[in-house]
Amino acid sequence: MKHLSDINKLQRCDRLLWLFKKQPLPYQRYVMFNENIYELTLRLFGMKDYFKGAPHDPNERFFSSLDAYDVFVSVRLEYQGLRIKMPIMRKVHDGFVLYYSYANCYPKENEAQTYADQEWVLDHLGIKVVDRFVVHLNPAYVRDGDLDLEQLLIVEKKLYNDKNKAKHTIGKLVNDRKRDLIPFLEAIDQVMEEEPPRKIRTNICTRKGKCDYFDVCFPNQKDTSILNLVSSSKKFELHDLKGIETISQVDFDDIEGTRHQYAQYMAAKTGTLFFDAVAVDYFFRDVTYPISYLDFEWETFAFPPFDGMKPYDVLTFQYSLHIENANHNVRHKEFLGKGDCREAFVQQLIHDIPKEGSVMCFNVEGAEKLRLKQLAVQFPQYHDALEQIWERMVDLAIPFSSGLIYDNKMAGMYSLKKLVKIFTNKSYDDLEIGDGITAMQSYAKLDEADEETIKNLLKYCAMDTYAMILVYHWVLRQLAKRKKNK
Ligand code: SF4
Repeated sequence: MKHLSDINKLQRCDRLLWLFKKQPLPYQRYVMFNENIYELTLRLFGMKDYFKGAPHDPNERFFSSLDAYDVFVSVRLEYQGLRIKMPIMRKVHDGFVLYYSYANCYPKENEAQTYADQEWVLDHLGIKVVDRFVVHLNPAYVRDGDLDLEQLLIVEKKLYNDKNKAKHTIGKLVNDRKRDLIPFLEAIDQVMEEEPPRKIRTNICTRKGKCDYFDVCFPNQKDTSILNLVSSSKKFELHDLKGIETISQVDFDDIEGTRHQYAQYMAAKTGTLFFDAVAVDYFFRDVTYPISYLDFEWETFAFPPFDGMKPYDVLTFQYSLHIENANHNVRHKEFLGKGDCREAFVQQLIHDIPKEGSVMCFNVEGAEKLRLKQLAVQFPQYHDALEQIWERMVDLAIPFSSGLIYDNKMAGMYSLKKLVKIFTNKSYDDLEIGDGITAMQSYAKLDEADEETIKNLLKYCAMDTYAMILVYHWVLRQLAKRKKNK
């Protein structure tokens, strides 16, 4: 049995298709889909009586129900071994109107290829499409009471380009993309009959994001591999065409020459830690005690679950706060909330965090500062107190992300987890909840979480702030050592 997603994979790489079919990877969820977009669409249109398709349905189930229903949901159809699942279909006198529902804000023009391929199946089964719409989330919608479907959902006849502009109608985009799928179906059969296709390292492996099977195809790369060179569009060409394996073999004139790349180059050349002591010292010059090491955990909701929230807003449900005073004594505070815990979170944070001193976070702009700013919009009565916190933030990630400090073992990455492992003798590995994604999944089940899960969540978040202390003190020791050796 074949699906349209198989064709997409085949077009990217035949080996990817083979691996996906034979060695599927577990699904990773990054967003909480707390409502069903199909059900909301049906409610929006007042469609109550409808045919509901199911996996493995034969075509006959749909055709034999045509007289009994006007609306069809999740219809499964098959032609030449290619199975498709249709969006909402509404019967009209001369064919069907299709409603593609999206739990996102800007369904893109490239979706039209899937629609065109689905219509290839419909055409061959004698099913005529007379119109098409997308139904998607309104990014400007702010929840106030029950979900207002008229405001939350936008019904549109166009898809969106890369700049989120709706330019072309779906009909035009679909007509431009119609194609014969028989050659693709034959190619899929051929790929699946053979041993895994040969792995060939090209920019296809990393274009628009690293391929899910990259580490399966190319395990155990050297830390100093040229492929770990950061922000480089030239590394693939250097690797694939010029045969350059490691960063130390690169002619510096052949790459972009950013500060971060320079740090990687120097570390690879010398085999030692690159540490720009003057710049690091300057970066941390304004850090003052008490230092509040602060870390949040949050969940992103596709549909705003509570008042004042928009689609894809986050709910910050946990923090860990280690406070280090000038004598290096450390105390710990924490918060873990359930349900709509936003205001309780804000109140306790304002209460717990010292009113002076630096607030150290990891990835300030994309994480803690952003979250506090969102909370300040949702709860303007706390704006000034929250601003007082984010104004004091220092980003511990920057010296590592901008190439002031680089160790070959970082292999082009700088997550806190990685830094702790490299620069201290601690590790996240022995924690039950060892990463942010797992932490999010545990929050989703917090209502039924046992004591052990809650303990692990607290431990994970606390590990992040503890890790910041360890890494920051490692930096201070490096600075002290260099000053002494002057
Ligand atoms: S890593 Fe590259 S070769 Fe391997 S499956 Fe992905 S695209 Fe294909």
